[in-house]
Amino acid sequence: MIQIIITDSPRVCRDHGDSRCMRHWINGATAVVPFDDTRGDPLTEPSHTNDEACRRAAACIASASGLLITAGAGMGVDSGLPDFRGTEGFWRAYPTLGAAGLRFEEVASPGTFHADPRLAWGFYGHRLNLYRATQPHAGFGLLRAIARHLPDGAFVLTSNVDGQFQKAGFLDDAIYEVHGSIHDLQCLAPCSELVWPGGEYAPAVDAAGCRLVSEPPRCGACGGLARPNVLMFGDDGWIGARAAVQRRHFDRWIARTARPVIIELGAGTAIPTVRRIGDTLGAPLIRINTREPQVSQPGHLGIAAGAREALLRITGALRALEPAFATARR
Ligand SMILES: [Zn+2]
Repeated sequence: MIQIIITDSPRVCRDHGDSRCMRHWINGATAVVPFDDTRGDPLTEPSHTNDEACRRAAACIASASGLLITAGAGMGVDSGLPDFRGTEGFWRAYPTLGAAGLRFEEVASPGTFHADPRLAWGFYGHRLNLYRATQPHAGFGLLRAIARHLPDGAFVLTSNVDGQFQKAGFLDDAIYEVHGSIHDLQCLAPCSELVWPGGEYAPAVDAAGCRLVSEPPRCGACGGLARPNVLMFGDDGWIGARAAVQRRHFDRWIARTARPVIIELGAGTAIPTVRRIGDTLGAPLIRINTREPQVSQPGHLGIAAGAREALLRITGALRALEPAFATARR
């Protein structure tokens, strides 16, 4: 079931005007309005509840001048990408590493690049090949359609390192990858601040063994091992120069955008960087998250759904609300 969580009236059920309404309240602070009209579900509301929830999200977007898209690992799930949720999720994606009892935090670390570079590059090389082969799902296109409708356009802030927003057509100077990108490389040592595109590097990986079977990439300056420009766990060697440039683009966009609205997609609480940014910017926020849609501020919306499905519903409501959007260039 999909749910909409609304906090514009934090003490009173907005459907019944009654603070004792337990059907619409969870934890005493958040209204949970069922979003799906699945037949027979005891929490199901009539379809007008869906319409109202979609209308609210669409109205937020229609009154905004620009769209800030904040995205975590859940954004890629509808494209078929793993989100490594929890140790079990990581081991399901990489059973060989599970059999060895290796956790995500251990493999995704500069220490593993030093100690066992073929294992580290087996993991990152497999992911690099996967991301290169993956086509972004329809939700990315819907976000671009919304952006074209707003005078200040859109900016993407993401903890994902997969490059899917660029692949979907978002411009480089409108993306801030806070944890770097797997598509760029740097020296492992590092011997300099240099970050370079890794487009020509094509790792050959034994997927079953999660090991690199071709040569690893090298630093052009010192000849040492190169690694992805991804912020890993326990990583004091990450070169943040590229991300710093992106950060300046973000600061400029947010400064000149009079009325931003935030759509947050699949950003979890385990690594809360993206959620914290959305919560602290002071802009209306639409949180789309299958498992953790909770919101805590007035005017914020939480939608318990996958990214693609929620965006389809919201853009449907936006088209109904704004005829200009319905005829906008797709
Ligand atoms: Zn070097």
